Amino acid sequence: MDDERLKVVTGDITVQDVDVIVNAANGSLLGGGGVDGAIHSAAGQGLLEECRTLGGCGVGEAKATAGYQLAAAHVIHTVGPVYGRHDGAEPDLLAACYRNSLSLADELGATSIAFPGISTGVYGYPKHEAADIAVGTIREYLRSHPGSSLADIRLVAFSKSDAQIISPALL
Ligand code: ADP
Repeated sequence: MDDERLKVVTGDITVQDVDVIVNAANGSLLGGGGVDGAIHSAAGQGLLEECRTLGGCGVGEAKATAGYQLAAAHVIHTVGPVYGRHDGAEPDLLAACYRNSLSLADELGATSIAFPGISTGVYGYPKHEAADIAVGTIREYLRSHPGSSLADIRLVAFSKSDAQIISPALL
């Protein structure tokens, strides 16, 4: 069933043993703080060099690179909405981040993917609302893509308190 493919795990996304790690990037794709900084420092310089060739990324869109020194073969970079800056389109834009990342992961033939809480750090998206959107969008994607190769989809909580916020969204 769909729900068995989706789980919440607690920890550092950079050490997840998955085919694809999703990065909550900024539009330049040239690195930043938070999870973006952690992914770039774990992946090494090669990641930044490839990102420089991509010409940035729009809000809600997703672009793939190799994973370099990460365990993951690929990184999918997506740019979340800044909460309060998109005139009410924030939920649609956040959902698009999840949907476009899943679609790109399927194009890559990935079986496993790990997501951070996109937009829930410096971009200020309330964590409960963001978790509901993440879970709802992933479930809808799996329902509407019965041929998806994805069998292991992880929502990575960076702390136990974040896991306690995200987990109820799965119920
Ligand atoms: P954004 O700019 O999209 O808000 P942030 O990087 O500021 O992105 O934060 C997104 C989420 O990622 C936050 O919930 C933050 O706690 C979490 N986070 C930060 N570092 C890591 C990490 N190494 N692994 C997993 N999650 C992380």
